[in-house]
Amino acid sequence: MKDKIRIIQGDITKLEVDAIVNAANNSLLGGGGVDGAIHRAAGPKLVAECATLGGCRTGDAKVTKGYNLPARHVIHTVGPVWHGGGKGEPELLHSAYRRCFEVAHGNGLKSIAFPAISAGVYGYPMKEACRIAMEEAKAALGKFLELEEIVFVCFSGTALKIYQETFSEIFA
Ligand code: ADP
Repeated sequence: MKDKIRIIQGDITKLEVDAIVNAANNSLLGGGGVDGAIHRAAGPKLVAECATLGGCRTGDAKVTKGYNLPARHVIHTVGPVWHGGGKGEPELLHSAYRRCFEVAHGNGLKSIAFPAISAGVYGYPMKEACRIAMEEAKAALGKFLELEEIVFVCFSGTALKIYQETFSEIFA
């Protein structure tokens, strides 16, 4: 199971996978961080398709085409804003990852790459966010047997180290 997980440092917009995940906001109309990078790389048709989706609730996910990206699809999810952890943030972050895997499964997508959802501007502590990502990846690999590859894309060296450590803990 754990050989289906890859942890890399880099730019998620460069990956040729069935789907990259966008850490979007509720409007799905674009934003900063990884969201801005994905929209810039995909081109204007992405925001046009997003505009037809009616936004996305926190903890949910919706799929579009990838347009100019090397990835064939984008799964847009909305993670929670961190307010200290007592406002349902862990449940919502679990749900965001879970819904991404469900949407991938529902669309026959077998390789999926994730950024560190909520761990940028939304302020979720990286270590805790990473633990949730790994737990949901483990659950998805047990459930969706067609899944071939889950890539965790770390933007910084610090994030990479946290992901590698957490991977060893969860998949020990
Ligand atoms: P959120 O609002 O959900 O916190 P952000 O986009 O602010 O989303 O950050 C999520 C994570 O994505 C952060 O760890 C950030 O460093 C990272 N990130 C930003 N740009 C990219 C990119 N091009 N590829 C991969 N990860 C990225």
